[in-house]
Amino acid sequence: MMLKVEDLSVRYFTKKGVVYAVDNVSLEVRRGEALALVGESGSGKSTLGFAIMRMVPPPGRIVEGRIILEDRDIMGLSEEEMRKLRGSKVSMVFQDPFTTLDPLRRVNDIVAEVMIEHGVDEKEAKERAAYLLKRVGIPEKLVDAYPHQLSGGQKQRVAIAAAISMNPSLLIADEPTTALDVIVQRQIMDLLDEIRRDMGMILITHDIALALERADRICVMYAGKVMEVADKDMMMKEAMHPYTKGLLSSLPRLLSREWPSSIPGMPPDLREPPKGCRFHPRCSKAMDICREQTPDLFSVDGRLVSCWLYGR
Ligand code: ATP
Ligand code: SF4
Ligand code: MG
Repeated sequence: MMLKVEDLSVRYFTKKGVVYAVDNVSLEVRRGEALALVGESGSGKSTLGFAIMRMVPPPGRIVEGRIILEDRDIMGLSEEEMRKLRGSKVSMVFQDPFTTLDPLRRVNDIVAEVMIEHGVDEKEAKERAAYLLKRVGIPEKLVDAYPHQLSGGQKQRVAIAAAISMNPSLLIADEPTTALDVIVQRQIMDLLDEIRRDMGMILITHDIALALERADRICVMYAGKVMEVADKDMMMKEAMHPYTKGLLSSLPRLLSREWPSSIPGMPPDLREPPKGCRFHPRCSKAMDICREQTPDLFSVDGRLVSCWLYGR
């Protein structure tokens, strides 16, 4: 297994209370696969992505759990050791490349710097940066440009080149195309598909249609918890969890890239998540047990479902 996340909980300790952003999440990413992490805004996707990088911003903190990257538990690593790991074993690409690209540096240097930080000598790093920028489709005349001279799509290409420069085993892409227009979105997704080859990828998206189109497996999150994990084909055919069913029943609307409104109600405030199954206030199938006890992730017919309808 490329990545194993076990019983991971992340909380934000804010002045207004504790936010239970990721709660007891377990997850696996197989070698080379693309796993989509799907969920509506505030469901904890980015927090989980940051946690895997051991980069949860304050006032957030990982409070429990294990993160095992290529058979190595990274929870016990020092910040120094994590710095070595980030970029070389696991990298992240973000929604808005502006926040990650240093505006004062030329794009070739931005990409080269990642490699230099990991001990590659300067000349070699610059050469490889030029090669990588070409690979991700940056025109040669822009190699010495500054980020502001690039389009949004080009900036995202540079961010991807930087993220993969050390050949990480796992790439976490957090809404990598959300800030881009539709045509550029497709180009960037195609680029990710092509360039990552045997790299594992976690594609974080609120767009279940995009997830079904691009990922091998889908992990649906709701209110900081995993609701269902299944192979893409299984999920396409039939969802088991009431929440996922609700999502998929509106697939025609999803194709227009809107968050479906077929599920009544709103996600909960994660400072006071509902007891039991976090989805119960919105679930038409809710039973007494759902309001009291949190369901485990039950293994049913080759998939994982966190719902009392499928296990005891
Ligand atoms: P989106 O689709 O909007 O990016 P998300 O699924 O990535 O949402 P997160 O950003 O991980 O969700 O947020 C999960 C929960 O943690 C939310 O309730 C959010 O308000 C809270 N949260 C996120 N970042 C912080 C922070 N820095 N301080 C306090 N609470 C936070
Ligand atoms: Fe609905 Fe209960 Fe299943 Fe939660 S556990 S999704 S409330 S049936
Ligand atoms: Mg997010």
